[in-house]
Amino acid sequence: MSYYGRKRILVTGGAGFIGSHLCEMLLRQGHEVLCVDNFYTGDKRNLGWCREHENFELLRHDVTFPLYVEVDQIYNLACPASPIHYQHDPVQTTKTSVHGAINMLGLAKRLKARILQASTSEVYGDPLMHPQREEYWGNVNPIGTRACYDEGKRCAETLFFDYYRQHRLAIKILRIFNTYGPRMHPNDGRVVSNFIVQALRSQPITVYGEGSQTRSFCYVDDQLEVMVGLMNTADDFIGPLNAGNPEEFSINELAQLTIELTGSKSKIVYKPLPKDDPTQRCPDIALAAKHLNWKPKIPLRAGLQKTIAYFDDLLSREAV
Ligand code: NAD
Ligand code: UDP
Repeated sequence: MSYYGRKRILVTGGAGFIGSHLCEMLLRQGHEVLCVDNFYTGDKRNLGWCREHENFELLRHDVTFPLYVEVDQIYNLACPASPIHYQHDPVQTTKTSVHGAINMLGLAKRLKARILQASTSEVYGDPLMHPQREEYWGNVNPIGTRACYDEGKRCAETLFFDYYRQHRLAIKILRIFNTYGPRMHPNDGRVVSNFIVQALRSQPITVYGEGSQTRSFCYVDDQLEVMVGLMNTADDFIGPLNAGNPEEFSINELAQLTIELTGSKSKIVYKPLPKDDPTQRCPDIALAAKHLNWKPKIPLRAGLQKTIAYFDDLLSREAV
């Protein structure tokens, strides 16, 4: 660690939705940030003012290749997160999770650096336990179209735990549940961005299946608080830790709320449910409450309003 508690922190996937917010937060806390991204789903523009900051560095690099840098902490976020993007090149998705984890763990081992893995609620697959607790092993189809992501992330967790057991590496594993907010990609196909963009363009709102499947939506600021909190807890609390908002909504409810908050005239249309689409998902966050005294503060309505304002601005600028 360097002068006055300032750390050099590597954020892989730092030009993406969550990663760019994380880079901003770490810079605001006074750290030096090295953002590594291959811009597969991320965009330099997400990094806004960070790019001008003297403590910020941006490196185009694919984490499936080894990386030799000097840092104190690593947040490993590199991986496409939306089903459309991670299914576009599934082999690359698995490589990103697995080879990416091996490379970043190797780097952390050489540097004796603490490393946090952005894991996912997808490790629970289509869960048979509700709400999902960390000790649940999940219900994942290993050969389905979501497997490149789900199994890739599960294997990454395995690697993290083996580096911990075998090399005593300081690891942290965060299982992120559906997170939303400004800077989601407008075309990435995730439900919150799809519905908002469709509503703002007065296009039909595409609900897949009957819309009775549930998700719980966490605003990005809440997600960052638990992520950075976990990274900085004592060495012996390594997770896995669920991070999400435990308030559960059906996709129909989300569609209705989006129409209400945008004041849109869009109508709901029903489309086929994608294969292996989980029917219910909701985190049990008792562990995060106990260890980090954390619970999300931003209700869906308030978070959606901020996200709608972002997309409204983005779409009006695109229209110029
Ligand atoms: P995102 O797609 O916006 O960001 C991912 C970033 O990783 C992008 O900038 C992309 O260009 C980069 N990337 C992809 N492959 C790479 C590679 N091989 N080398 C270097 N960079 C690469 O997604 P996000 O929503 O910001 O998700 C960030 C992380 O959080 C991901 O690991 C994702 O699996 C995890 N996560 C997100 C959610 C969510 O709801 N947003 C839920 C669960 C887990
Ligand atoms: N979904 C939908 N309409 C859309 C996009 C997604 O009904 O335009 C549904 C999708 O089938 C899933 C839920 O919304 O049941 C959440 O999808 P998302 O891709 O955001 O994330 P997931 O939790 O499935 O990874």
